[in-house]
Amino acid sequence: MGLEPTTSTHDLIVVGAGISGLSLASRAVASGRRVLVVDKAEEAGGCLATTRVQAGSESFWQELGAHTCYNSYANLISLIEERSLVDRILGRLKLGFFVRVGGKLRSIPSQLNAFELLVSVPRLFTSSRVGRTVASYYGSIVGSGNYDRVFGALFDAVACQDTREFGAEFLFKKRPGRRKDFRRSFTLAGGVKTVAEALASQPGLTVETGSGVEAISRTNDGFSLRLENGQVRVSRAIALAVPPPEAARLVEPMVPDAARLLAAIRMNPLYYVGVAVRRDRIAMRPLAGIVSSGDRFYSVVSRDVVPDSTLRGFTFHFRDDDMASNLTRIEEVLGVPRADFQNLVVKENALPSLGTAHADSMRRLDTLMADTGVLLAGNYFLGLSIEDCVTRSFALAAQIDRLLSGRPAVEA
Ligand SMILES: Cc1cc2nc3c(=O)[nH]c(=O)nc-3n(C[C@H](O)[C@H](O)[C@H](O)COP(=O)(O)OP(=O)(O)OC[C@H]3O[C@@H](n4cnc5c(N)ncnc54)[C@H](O)[C@@H]3O)c2cc1C
Repeated sequence: MGLEPTTSTHDLIVVGAGISGLSLASRAVASGRRVLVVDKAEEAGGCLATTRVQAGSESFWQELGAHTCYNSYANLISLIEERSLVDRILGRLKLGFFVRVGGKLRSIPSQLNAFELLVSVPRLFTSSRVGRTVASYYGSIVGSGNYDRVFGALFDAVACQDTREFGAEFLFKKRPGRRKDFRRSFTLAGGVKTVAEALASQPGLTVETGSGVEAISRTNDGFSLRLENGQVRVSRAIALAVPPPEAARLVEPMVPDAARLLAAIRMNPLYYVGVAVRRDRIAMRPLAGIVSSGDRFYSVVSRDVVPDSTLRGFTFHFRDDDMASNLTRIEEVLGVPRADFQNLVVKENALPSLGTAHADSMRRLDTLMADTGVLLAGNYFLGLSIEDCVTRSFALAAQIDRLLSGRPAVEA
């Protein structure tokens, strides 16, 4: 996307064009604000990381990052409606996740100890998740044997990290306002990145990609942002919708105590490898995904839920970046030699680990940031899901008028 002259003036600059930044920007534009979104990546989307390849006359897409939206994502659905994307919603086939045991795919129920489950599940109605780890809370509800054998690996797959010490309250949520007029779980034609693209092209919103924000300083009436390409952007307020380590670095000169809290959030690295394989080259049954306890990968996510006539797509979420071993593992799991891999895509990312003390820490962070003119959005406040990100951003958008009122506009 083209760059503007050396300086420009906006009511709000949002740093980070993932779903957090874009949903905040979208709401601010809708309320009449001049908004610029800046992202260091070449394309908007962040973890909405659909990759696309031309397969014959058709475009084949598969998800490297987020893959499933639910009808409990009421805020996300409101954005989908506003951006006229409802027609692009696609249901997902009801295919199971399988557990890989001893080189074979097994159904999840086949791996469970039914007696242990029956004895343990009633605790679901009496115990609270607040302040407890995933291992302690869910271990008590499904039984420790079931947890060790199956559920631990499933939860690790959901959060793409070791979730034993993860706060149970952050993993699954009962959300108000389920939209029963939408499919229970869905994606969109072209993949979930379609949502990011539609938000980024919203009329009135300017998005600049390909150059990150290097540093931020205060001016008399707002903020000055220096980009990696040497250009400068100024605004009256800013929102940082970047991962915690980046937010810590950018906030440090302005609110050092907040930077310390942000820097303390542990990040878990994650290495995606996406491969597409011709349908006639793979014998594996159709499935939604694979988990495997103690394996090199947290999960394999398949495109089979939205079948394609020519290709099948699989994304492996690996724990480390030993690519030679990762590729060998993909060959073993799919039963396909690498010569048959098409559209091999490799990407690195990291997700925050939200422990049992995390909610308190984020409350302190919000207190420190109040009235600084800097808004913090992201997947480390309410939870990792897309809906958690949008919910946080909508709450921030409601603060923008107050934030900007009483401050004189910055002259270009
Ligand atoms: C593998 C995987 C699978 C997932 N599956 C699901 C799922 O199925 N359903 C679901 O609901 N959620 C899922 N999630 C979670 C969800 O996708 C993410 O938590 C959410 O999309 C994060 O959005 P975000 O905008 O907060 O952060 P990000 O998407 O990480 O965006 C941050 C952006 O900031 C940019 N940036 C960083 N530093 C700078 C800088 N200095 N200057 C400018 N830009 C910068 C980055 O380039 C990036 O685009 C998944 C996540 C992953 C990784």
